[in-house]
Amino acid sequence: MNFIYTANPSRVIFGSGTLSKLPSELTRQSLKAPLILCTPQQTSQAEHVASLIPSVAGTFTEATMHTPTHITQKALSYAQSINSDSIISIGGGSTIGLGKALSIRTGLPHICIPTTYAGSEMTPILGETEDGRKTTRSDPKILPGTVIYDVDLTMTLPAGLSATSGVNAIAHAVEALYSSTANPITSLLALEGIKSLAHSLPTITKDPSNAEARSQALYGAWLCASCLGTVGMALHHKLCHTLGGSFNLPHAETHTIVLPHAIAYNSKAIPADMLARLADSLPESNGDAVEGLNVLLNKLGVKRALRDYGMKEEDVDKAAEIATSNPYYNPREIKKDEIREVIRRAVVGEEAR
Ligand code: NAD
Repeated sequence: MNFIYTANPSRVIFGSGTLSKLPSELTRQSLKAPLILCTPQQTSQAEHVASLIPSVAGTFTEATMHTPTHITQKALSYAQSINSDSIISIGGGSTIGLGKALSIRTGLPHICIPTTYAGSEMTPILGETEDGRKTTRSDPKILPGTVIYDVDLTMTLPAGLSATSGVNAIAHAVEALYSSTANPITSLLALEGIKSLAHSLPTITKDPSNAEARSQALYGAWLCASCLGTVGMALHHKLCHTLGGSFNLPHAETHTIVLPHAIAYNSKAIPADMLARLADSLPESNGDAVEGLNVLLNKLGVKRALRDYGMKEEDVDKAAEIATSNPYYNPREIKKDEIREVIRRAVVGEEAR
């Protein structure tokens, strides 16, 4: 067995009610003037955070999906005007992305309080959008120093978004299994993460206030996020990046629709034992990973067609062109006509096979 495993240094506080640890976490790091970040939809959660800590420099409530640089500039000017000594981001990947963008520009310590399953909090990756173009960079300094996972904060995540955000997390773990930098430790985390989410998400969509299922899902999301932060991704993430960036499709929903199709394409090249372990981690898979994913998505009742989010069938050629234009690692050779067919199926909502 040969492998390289690099663990990211990060501090994780996990559980129910863990937000109460925030004051001691600030004291531990001698931080006195945090800037709190949130989206316009999560201002009450940000206010709650502010009420728990002795001093707050200010709150910025305009975090936006895909981290547009004009919003980052506005937040940066605000952070400097109030002399903040740290950043607290409470929210999903959009808010955490803004926190990362500020932290890398200022060197300020960043505490993340994730409220979705997207996983940005565990990665040294930052995607930013300028003039409609999304660019991504990776730097160890982007990795947030402390992550507080509080299950209670995820109880308000709507059932539909819980489902797609959870499948977004599963996608990180699935691609970790056949990554160019795959290793046995990350694979263990990945399979445990997939299992936790695949078992808890159907319960959450029926009963979003089920605390046990919420806890299992957030635990799974953390494991899957660790995979995304540790090893490189492949076709699935490339397709979602292309489709999301070029056709303005929503992040978690796109991941959800594309995943079974990307795995169906790659399944011919994934080692048989790994494919079998993936199938075992998905309930009712009958030993077939693609069937396991189809069953899961059907149980979650999520939309299966990208055209439901505005993508048109005539865009398929353009998408295939962009998705295959730059060479990137994938376990199976990238064949343009077959990738076109993968995208077409995802656009019209055919079942993956
Ligand atoms: P999001 O952060 O945009 O959240 C979606 C919506 O749900 C927002 O309106 C938000 O305020 C709301 N919301 C979040 N948590 C809630 C809760 N508990 N209760 C009620 N409402 C809640 O969506 P996301 O899917 O978490 O993140 C997507 C963004 O993150 C994309 O820009 C994506 O590129 C980025 N991302 C980056 C990485 C990385 O490693 N850099 C990883 C994953 C995602």
